Amino acid sequence: MVAGQLKRMNHSAKRTTAGAFRLYRDFLNLEGGLKGGPGTDEPDAVKKKRFDIRELVMLQKIAASWDSTDVIRSAMSIFGGHGVMEDFSSLPRLYRDSAVNELWEGPRNVLLTQIHRDLQRSSAWYKPSEFLGNILSGLDEGLVAELSEEITELVSYSSLFSMDEKTIEVCRRWDAFCHRLFHSYQDLALQEVEN
Ligand SMILES: Cc1cc2nc3c(=O)[nH]c(=O)nc-3n(C[C@H](O)[C@H](O)[C@H](O)COP(=O)(O)OP(=O)(O)OC[C@H]3O[C@@H](n4cnc5c(N)ncnc54)[C@H](O)[C@@H]3O)c2cc1C
Repeated sequence: MVAGQLKRMNHSAKRTTAGAFRLYRDFLNLEGGLKGGPGTDEPDAVKKKRFDIRELVMLQKIAASWDSTDVIRSAMSIFGGHGVMEDFSSLPRLYRDSAVNELWEGPRNVLLTQIHRDLQRSSAWYKPSEFLGNILSGLDEGLVAELSEEITELVSYSSLFSMDEKTIEVCRRWDAFCHRLFHSYQDLALQEVEN
């Protein structure tokens, strides 16, 4: 059991690091950096690239901060009682810090809502499926097709703000989808490093 848990933690740390560097590389190559809204006077390809990075920054924030807390909690568990004692281990301090990272600079629900709204607003000039195909270019085609179908369906849902059961279910799916989407992006980044 421990061998498997360590393997998962190791994979999570590696793909999170690879994903962060891949995204930062693209950010550094982006002329003019991120802009408040889509620049109307620039070529379509640049506008789309800027949009990709804006969304990926938010996706990375929610996925990496969530995974970090999860991995540290698993690490504490492996050490048993010692794992939660601060005079033995620095893990409880890291765990507390990690929970802060989930909240500041945009808590999860706020960012999930923002990503959904961005994709809806841009869909006239940038379809969600095209966005997905661009950020995951090079990944297994079957997986890309599956994710593409799901993003199209979820983004077409007009508002996440109603309190009915259907909307609540769409919100749950959107949360899980975004997490999976960013894991796929991280896996692609790790693939680039390892191959
Ligand atoms: C240790 C620490 C240091 C900080 N330092 C700074 C600092 O130096 N400067 C600074 O400016 N700020 C700072 N902050 C503030 C931090 O940025 C905010 O705490 C963070 O953005 C969350 O906002 P909030 O606390 O107002 O929570 P809220 O916005 O009230 O969020 C509470 C819950 O409601 C949800 N929610 C809120 N709005 C929506 C929405 N529209 N749709 C769906 N769900 C929503 C959130 O996802 C969350 O689950 C700090 C916070 C901490 C914990």
